[in-house]
Amino acid sequence: MRVNLSDLKVNVEDMPREYQGLGGRGLSSHIVGSEVPPKADPLGPENKLVFSAGILAGTTVPNTGRLSVGAKSPLTNGIKEANVGGSAAQKIARIGFQAVVIEGCAKELTGLKIDKNGATFFPAFSLKGAGNYELIEKMRKEHANNISSISIGPAGEMRLRAASVMVTTPDFHIRVASRGGMGAVMGSKNLKALLIDDTGCNAVEAKNKEKLREAVAALSKAILADPLGPGFRDIGTPVLVMIINSIGCFPTKNYSLGQFGGAEKISGEYMAELMKKRPNAQPSHRCMDGCIVSCSNVYTDENGEVIVSGLEYETIGLMGSNCMIDDLDSIARMNRVCNDVGVDTMDIGGAIAVAMEAGLLAWGDGKAALSLVKEIAKATDKGVMIGNGCKFTGEKLGVKRIPHVKGQCLSAYDPRGLKGLGVTYATSPMGGDHTSGIVLPNPGNPSYNPGSPTGQAAPSQFMQIYMAAVDSLGLCMMAGMPLLDPIPQSSLISCISAFTGEPLNANYLENLGKSVLRAERRFNDAAGFTKKDDRLPRFFLEEKLLPSGNVFDVPENEIDGVNRF
Ligand code: SF4
Repeated sequence: MRVNLSDLKVNVEDMPREYQGLGGRGLSSHIVGSEVPPKADPLGPENKLVFSAGILAGTTVPNTGRLSVGAKSPLTNGIKEANVGGSAAQKIARIGFQAVVIEGCAKELTGLKIDKNGATFFPAFSLKGAGNYELIEKMRKEHANNISSISIGPAGEMRLRAASVMVTTPDFHIRVASRGGMGAVMGSKNLKALLIDDTGCNAVEAKNKEKLREAVAALSKAILADPLGPGFRDIGTPVLVMIINSIGCFPTKNYSLGQFGGAEKISGEYMAELMKKRPNAQPSHRCMDGCIVSCSNVYTDENGEVIVSGLEYETIGLMGSNCMIDDLDSIARMNRVCNDVGVDTMDIGGAIAVAMEAGLLAWGDGKAALSLVKEIAKATDKGVMIGNGCKFTGEKLGVKRIPHVKGQCLSAYDPRGLKGLGVTYATSPMGGDHTSGIVLPNPGNPSYNPGSPTGQAAPSQFMQIYMAAVDSLGLCMMAGMPLLDPIPQSSLISCISAFTGEPLNANYLENLGKSVLRAERRFNDAAGFTKKDDRLPRFFLEEKLLPSGNVFDVPENEIDGVNRF
């Protein structure tokens, strides 16, 4: 479905031949790559905002309901895809669409609702300035309870570079397509909310139902066999706090240390104990129907009021240890404000830490950090600065050590001890990002040394290709990670083959991932990116990370070969 907001016209078209077989990130990146001029203003009418369901969305294949949100990014100025759980992608697929492409810009703040009868616009000026929590409640009351809501908060309306897009879960918590300023693009199009209602729509059917049933059973078994699965189910992604801290790669004090003295107090284990004492807390929660991992959670206060769902590792790393804040409630409250105003907790956490380095507020001061985040909605000078993310804030305050690549704040893993991930940060077309090719030590591969200066390009390349394919399927990363070996991977390929009715060979995922990365790389090259943009900030190369003493010393000629195929 193509929606032109400039003239409020809607077109439904068959999938063009060049996009056939694509979904999720693959489809959004091919559309943006072919249809958006690489030098276009990311906040102008030439940019397109693509909401794309994964290839397997709406099927019975577990964990495949992620929604890809793609556009040219106002944060990186390159191509971007941010994917998110929630119920929107499954509903888009059930209505019968692979993607909704938003073109042009509306004259006034607008809402759009899509259901089995097509698309209708509704005025949204009454929602001007509304936070996402208020908006979602209103939409639930005014429209059927069966909707999924995709929305922006005040930060998106203000077109701040770290603005995110929020998507509701089946039980109306918020999940976030957080990275790259996709909320600013939505705001530039004057689109406040996109509602998806699949009432009266049938389940998505496979071409070969029997084969799909068998393949899903084998795939589910492989996902559930992941030795890390119980940790993610019982403690959630914060289980990583103590693991990453123990290997000395937990970003601390604006990436100046790899271990945080207060790590235990913000760890997943501590959080799980705290939740036992708090009414309504859920240590295990599913952000979408069909999830069999349940890595999310619902974090409440002492009275049982929900603060946020879920409180995730990356937020704890960037807003916690990286700011020297060792209090989960403070981090959760900042997370809630970010969700409400609609910004990325990672880039905002990075921005607060550089502001602390500049002396704007004290290290570890959770109260001051929370009031700074609250300033975003008030549009004060400081709020606008923070809302534009880590790089903007660091440059404005004259900070030299800004942990970003291509304008996007790094994730919560220090690249000096995890050098394969450092190569991903440097070379991903997405900018500093772990999900586009996470490389971690793996007991199944004891010969891999994450601290060695050489041998890092190949694992990063492998994971970037794999994740580009995973993101195109709509598969959640937590379910994709246990499928790296050929046997479980063959069940995944069998699922796709049974669904599409096409025979697929063992190279299917590799070919898919490469085609996505090629399209993204081509766009970024044409937008003006060069090898110089595929570099980590100098301080990672020069400053020793304590306590290990590591620096990032992967040779440039190794880095330069990545994603050039
Ligand atoms: S594993 Fe976590 S992120 Fe993935 S679908 Fe389930 S709850 Fe969502």
